[in-house]
Amino acid sequence: MKAIYLGLGALVASTALTAMPVAAQDAGTVGIAMPTQSSARWISDGQSMVEQFEAAGYATDLQYAEDDIPNQLAQIENMIVRGVDALVIASIDGTTLTNALESAAAEGIPVIAYDRLIRGSEHVDYYATFDNFQVGVQQGQSLIDGLDLENNEGPFNIELFGGSPDDNNAYFFYDGAMSVLQPLIDDGTLVIQSGQMGMDTVGTLRWDGSVAQARMDNLLSAHYTDETVDAVLSPYDGLSIGIISSLSGVGYGSDDMPMPIISGQDAEVPSVKAILAGDQYSTIFKDTRELARVTVGMVEALLEGGEPEINDTETYDNGIKVVPSYLLEPVLVTEENWEEVLVGSGYYSREEIVD
Ligand code: BGC
Repeated sequence: MKAIYLGLGALVASTALTAMPVAAQDAGTVGIAMPTQSSARWISDGQSMVEQFEAAGYATDLQYAEDDIPNQLAQIENMIVRGVDALVIASIDGTTLTNALESAAAEGIPVIAYDRLIRGSEHVDYYATFDNFQVGVQQGQSLIDGLDLENNEGPFNIELFGGSPDDNNAYFFYDGAMSVLQPLIDDGTLVIQSGQMGMDTVGTLRWDGSVAQARMDNLLSAHYTDETVDAVLSPYDGLSIGIISSLSGVGYGSDDMPMPIISGQDAEVPSVKAILAGDQYSTIFKDTRELARVTVGMVEALLEGGEPEINDTETYDNGIKVVPSYLLEPVLVTEENWEEVLVGSGYYSREEIVD
């Protein structure tokens, strides 16, 4: 037994030694706090950042909080205690980090809000994200395209879903979508049989697909016994999956009752497959490799001297200050362009989508 332990000890020691060159990342350590592994996009974000930070000479401490706010807070506090040189945070609730960020500032640790704005704190140095309003515009416009409103007068029945009310992005997605849908609701082309509108009514806490599914069940039984629903605004693929399950459950997706036109976001594999199967109409591709690239550049500039690249100094007011931001362009994906956008960019292989 003892010999085995010794052997193992030697093995561990030699592994640690051979690992040394990789660990010679003396540019510093970056703490990366991500919300959850329940959605593939955040896993890709984490992987891209670790790869790119390491390639730039940084060590990383990547943590996922499984959508639990106290857990994320504890992870960030631990990173500060361990003395990371910079923090990159995709928050679960953008309003709950104020005290932790006070401690980070006291230690001189710069903070980048990643994808989601951190609200209520002056200690957010930069924000790397996509043009979130534009995401919503693309989602809303895709419903208009899917219904072919250029050639069809309607009226069409639509129901609206919003993202998590504690995520600043959810309001941008909703407002962007409504910027194109509201005029059509006002002129009667689109009809919300339930009458349910506004983020306080249609929001989906923690972006939870089962919550969306339950709400869709209720909408269908309360408002669609004599009517059919023609379009559903969904801000995220994980919600679209719940919405589609609910609709399938009452017979949508057949020749007599086609699936409504449904939007999404993140180009997650099951949802791209749902697009090819004709169950979902669109999704939004956000290239997480690009977001990582922008973020790594911001951290490098902050730690090594230089000006972080920004292209927006007006849009993202976190309640205390306008956070200087870099906004990347989201890309609408449908059955028409999925291969060119998702496979052509090397984000997925063709086999991952078509098996
Ligand atoms: C992100 C979206 C994502 C959603 C749910 C948002 O903050 O911007 O890409 O779909 O969170 O994870």
